[in-house]
Amino acid sequence: MRSLMIFLVALGPACGAHAASVELCHVQSRFAIVVHGGVISQSSAEEKARLEIMKGALDRARSALRSGATALDVVETAVKTFEDSGKFNAGKGAIANTSGFVETDASIMDGKDMRAGAVASMTGIKNPVVAARLVMEKSPHVLMVGDRGEAYVRSLGAEAVNPSYFVHNKPDGPTHGTVGAAALDRCGHIAAATSTGGITAKATGRVGDSPIVGAGVYAADDVGGFSATGHGEIFIRLSIAKDVADRMRYAGQSMAQAMQADITDKLGEMKEEGALIGVDKNGNVQAAYVGEGLFRGFATDEEAPVVAVHEGPLASRPR
Ligand code: ASP
Repeated sequence: MRSLMIFLVALGPACGAHAASVELCHVQSRFAIVVHGGVISQSSAEEKARLEIMKGALDRARSALRSGATALDVVETAVKTFEDSGKFNAGKGAIANTSGFVETDASIMDGKDMRAGAVASMTGIKNPVVAARLVMEKSPHVLMVGDRGEAYVRSLGAEAVNPSYFVHNKPDGPTHGTVGAAALDRCGHIAAATSTGGITAKATGRVGDSPIVGAGVYAADDVGGFSATGHGEIFIRLSIAKDVADRMRYAGQSMAQAMQADITDKLGEMKEEGALIGVDKNGNVQAAYVGEGLFRGFATDEEAPVVAVHEGPLASRPR
């Protein structure tokens, strides 16, 4: 349902509160959140801890969405939780590059107005996803990179940390564990976010798909929201997130069909590992992956949070 903004205090749960006015909208009961914690090529010792963190994040996201929180706030909060945990390849747990230091990439996109923000090659930012949102909301830009970009996001308010904050300061951290989230809120708005330390043995200065709109992240209210994980170079070359959205938008494919074509079939043929999670405008949740497993989980207004890494659901009940 198309949202109607009414700048009066009354009538229903708020979707985004501002100082002098409250944005209200026609409220739908439907909402959904889907998260991932990376595709894996072998079982990981972190499985239990990661799944517990994801379950906790989904529980909190579900009650926030039920109370009228925006999809944008909810995906940022979920990804920030994963970054802070130190258990994923993002934020505190980001892996080091071949020079032995961390360079993080992150993005966020608001499907309401197609705004996006991203950061890449950040070496001392506590929460790259928060920095990405600052770029989106407090600057006229989309993507800030490297030392000079880092100085800029700090001037916008991004929190800085010393290199000792990061768990992995040698290039031998976990091989996978990029994180992401996509959500539909009760206003009918969609948002998505992705955050990573990149791929193992990445060259210093290498940037993957995670901060690239249309590759590792995409959100548009008329289609859905998506976050990717896997071999970033492939996701950039194939514009995977945007291609899945275009298949749905222009070819009328379901989210499951579009992900089957781009992830299962295309990546499968290329013998590449990767995954995509998504939520569509009707509140359906879908994940697809090629690999040994995908840390994933979802919750909707109808379904309590579920998390899985190997066997387990890849989609919510259709509606
Ligand atoms: N896509 C990320 C990158 O290439 C890595 C991953 O998802 O494992 O930087």
